Amino acid sequence: MTSNIVSSSAADLAAGGFLHLEQEISACRKCGLHATATNKVISKGSPHPKVVFIGEAPGKNEDETGVPFCGRAGKLLDKFIAYMALKEEDWAVINTLKCRPPANRTPTKQEIEICRPFLEAQLALMKPKVIILLGNTAEKAYGESLEWGEAKQKEDKTFVVKIFHPAALIYQRSREAEQYAFLDKYRYLWE
Ligand code: SF4
Repeated sequence: MTSNIVSSSAADLAAGGFLHLEQEISACRKCGLHATATNKVISKGSPHPKVVFIGEAPGKNEDETGVPFCGRAGKLLDKFIAYMALKEEDWAVINTLKCRPPANRTPTKQEIEICRPFLEAQLALMKPKVIILLGNTAEKAYGESLEWGEAKQKEDKTFVVKIFHPAALIYQRSREAEQYAFLDKYRYLWE
């Protein structure tokens, strides 16, 4: 996804619109994770947001409800969204994988590759101005290489920013101030 061209399978998925994409994700059995998932976890927020956050993969609460970022990490993400002064129609959150890895293990490279067309299709349909990568897995899935708190502008003018995953900050509260500094630094992108 380093260029602005999405893969052909992602383009086909996006061509059918959001409903078609959701149906394809719901029916997906392309990797082994579908076997243990209770619910596919697709997205939360606006269909046409200014800012899209990309997380890692569903956790226990998300798997049970089908809603991304609905647990402790979600509460922290809500705090960041409020700090960014984003209105309801301004943001959405999606994950690199749509099914929960057992025991919340880190997604494998292969799982990320197999699920990537869904991520690409979501971004192609949402057309955000700013993509915020929440941590290293999102960075890998997106195909970028960024430092913490770094932003890059793409050929299509979209900005990509890498910040900490809220779940990581639950265990490292001392780094929360850095996260707010990153958000302050790039506030002009979404205001
Ligand atoms: S994680 Fe993605 S590729 Fe794997 S089964 Fe779920 S939706 Fe399909």
